[in-house]
Amino acid sequence: GTGKPVLEIRDLHVAYGYGPEPVRALRGVNLTLHEGEVLGIAGESGCGKSTLVYAATRLLPPPGLITGGEVLFHGGTGATGDEPVDILRMSDKELRRSRWQDTAIVFQGAMNSLNPVYRVGKQLTDAIAAHRPGMSRFDRNERAGELLSMVGIAKDRISAYPHQLSGGMRQRVMIAMALALDPQVLIMDEPTTALDVVMQRQIVEQIIELRDRLGFSVVFITHDVSLLIEVADRIAIMYAGEIVEQASASDVYRRPRHPYTHGLLNSFPPLHGPKRPLVGIP
Ligand code: ADP
Ligand code: MG
Repeated sequence: GTGKPVLEIRDLHVAYGYGPEPVRALRGVNLTLHEGEVLGIAGESGCGKSTLVYAATRLLPPPGLITGGEVLFHGGTGATGDEPVDILRMSDKELRRSRWQDTAIVFQGAMNSLNPVYRVGKQLTDAIAAHRPGMSRFDRNERAGELLSMVGIAKDRISAYPHQLSGGMRQRVMIAMALALDPQVLIMDEPTTALDVVMQRQIVEQIIELRDRLGFSVVFITHDVSLLIEVADRIAIMYAGEIVEQASASDVYRRPRHPYTHGLLNSFPPLHGPKRPLVGIP
């Protein structure tokens, strides 16, 4: 990467509920993603990881409410010159144009969101057609086949229905769909949590290889911090709606600072040696 920022989240606040005591799910999150970088976000369930990506992409469902902050995107379709655009202040039209082209997301459990009654090829070509109305049917089909082979699925599976594919393959189809418009930023919210560890590793390695080849930036969310230490350039640790630690992957591994990071790193039982109790944090 060149080290130039692509996405800057500044002082982002999100609350759930409109009553006198809303849940403050994000409390002033600051996070910068650089060009070509893999940024890992780890943290326990309920700490706000999904809320962060939903809010930053304006997909937060009610009763979620963004109560402050900005999300600056550099060099997007709506940006002029060197001026970044604030995603939180985009019009609906700008948002529609920016989504999938600038920033694409693979959601938690995405593999279950394929339409069961359409062939995967049609779902890919429909997504392409929505954003590239000028593209011919032949070119869209070609592109869909190319996308499938990019994520390690034989081109001829373009005519398969989702139920004819394994969970890992369906998740790969979702990744192919996210990459359809060459986004600059790929956000993945626990993309492999529902898969077995072998499939998980294959998919993660594939994403890193594609990043190396195509040069996009990645935000990778997981609760598996050991996986992040291997694949991420930088890691942010979230706890109770805040980023509590942010460092290079090797620093997080060698010198964890926050008690929660210590806890995460020590939560893997050793295969050999004496048993030791798992220590929680207050
Ligand atoms: P993560 O993805 O890290 O598991 P989430 O972003 O899904 O966490 O949720 C963060 C917190 O936001 C939760 O602990 C919960 O308190 C709150 N929250 C999430 N969704 C809702 C909702 N629909 N209504 C109320 N509170 C919610
Ligand atoms: Mg989540």
